[in-house]
Amino acid sequence: MALTFTLDALDSDTRARAGRLWTPHGEVLTPAFMPVGTQGAVKTLAPDELAAAGADILLANTYHLLLRPGVETVRQMEGLHRFMSWSGAILTDSGGFQVLSLAELRKVTDRGVEFRSHLDGSRHFIAPEDAIWIQDGLDTDIAMSFDELIELPASIETVRRSVDRTLDWAARGWVERERLRQEGRGTMGLFGINQGGVEAAERARCFDTLGTLAFDGFALGGLWVGESRSLSLEMVERDCARFPADRPRYLMGVGHPVDVIDAVGLGVDMFDCVLPTRNARRGTVFIATGRLVVKNAAYARDPRPLDPECDCYTCRRFTRAYLRHLFMSGELLGMRLASIHAVTQMIQLARRARRAVIEGGFRAFRAAFLDKFRSGETLTRSGVTTAPIPNPEN
Ligand SMILES: [Zn+2]
Repeated sequence: MALTFTLDALDSDTRARAGRLWTPHGEVLTPAFMPVGTQGAVKTLAPDELAAAGADILLANTYHLLLRPGVETVRQMEGLHRFMSWSGAILTDSGGFQVLSLAELRKVTDRGVEFRSHLDGSRHFIAPEDAIWIQDGLDTDIAMSFDELIELPASIETVRRSVDRTLDWAARGWVERERLRQEGRGTMGLFGINQGGVEAAERARCFDTLGTLAFDGFALGGLWVGESRSLSLEMVERDCARFPADRPRYLMGVGHPVDVIDAVGLGVDMFDCVLPTRNARRGTVFIATGRLVVKNAAYARDPRPLDPECDCYTCRRFTRAYLRHLFMSGELLGMRLASIHAVTQMIQLARRARRAVIEGGFRAFRAAFLDKFRSGETLTRSGVTTAPIPNPEN
C-alpha cells in the first residue's frame, strides 16, 4: 500500500491524536501543518529552507500546475518532486476549489466543470476522473477527490445537490484511481472530501456514503468559508466522530494558530493554509504572544528577535529592528525572513501539540498556548499596547 497511517498516541482528555503517515516520499508526523506551494513553490522559500523549518509535507495546487506549466511538462521532468527539487511528501488539491474561485465563465454539470483559464482565457474541462489522472501525472503522494464547493450561505436544496454531486464525483474518482492502479500507476493515496456546508444532517448523509469507499484518508471540506467559527468547530467535532479512527483527517484551508489547536483537540490530523505565509510577505507574523506587525514604529530599535521563543533561522539571527528596516525599505529579504519564521512557527506549533498528546497533556498545552497567545502584546499604529488579543470568535 502506498500510504499507511499509524497512531502513536491518543490524548485521554480530548480527542487529539498523534500519528504518522508513511508516504512514498517519507514519513509525515501528525498533527501536521502543510505549507502551501501554490505553483510548485512556497513563495520566496527554497526547499532546503522548508526542510530546515521542519516541513515533511507540502501542498501544491493542481489547477495552477495544470494551466502552467502543464501536467505533461511536469511528467516529462519526472514528476513534481524532481521538478521542484523537494524530496519530502506532496499533497495536491483536486483543483476544484481554484476552478470555482479563480477561473472564469465556469459551467458546472454532473459531467464536470468547464471553465476558462484566468491566465489566458483558454477553455478547459475537468471531469472527476481527469482530476485523478492529472494528480497522478504530477506524481503526488496524496491526491484529493474532485468535489463541488458551494458558497455559504446556501439554501438547503443547493447544499443537497452539491452533496449528491460530490458523492458521485468521489465514487468516479475512486474508480479512476483503481483503474490507474491496474495499469501499474496510481500509487498515490486518495482522500475523500466530506461536504454539506454547516448543515449537520447533510454532512452526516454525505459521510454515510463517502465512508463506504476505501479512501486512504478523509478531508473536512466547505468549512471556514464565511460561516461562524463556533459552527465550523461544531461541524469538525461531528465529522471527526464519524470518520474512521484509523485514517488521517484533514481540515482544508485552516491555518490560524488558535483554529489549528482547537481542531487538533477535536481529532484533526492535517492542516494547510496560505494565511501564515501570505501575511508574512505583508509583514505580519504570528508569534507565541499573538500577532506582530513588523513595520510598527515601536520596533525601530527593538533588539529582540520576532519571537523570543522561536528558534527558526530568522529568530536566531535577526532583530525586530532589522526586519522592520527591511520591510520599510522594500527589501525582498524581509519577505523571505518573515516567511521562514511563519512556516517554522506553524510547523513547530503542530509538533508541540503532537508532543503534548504523546506526553498526555494536550488540554494543559492548549490552555497554556491560548493564555499566552491572547495575553500578549497587541499592536496599534501608535505603538505597543498591552490590550489582550480578542477571541477570534466571529
Ligand atoms: Zn522564528
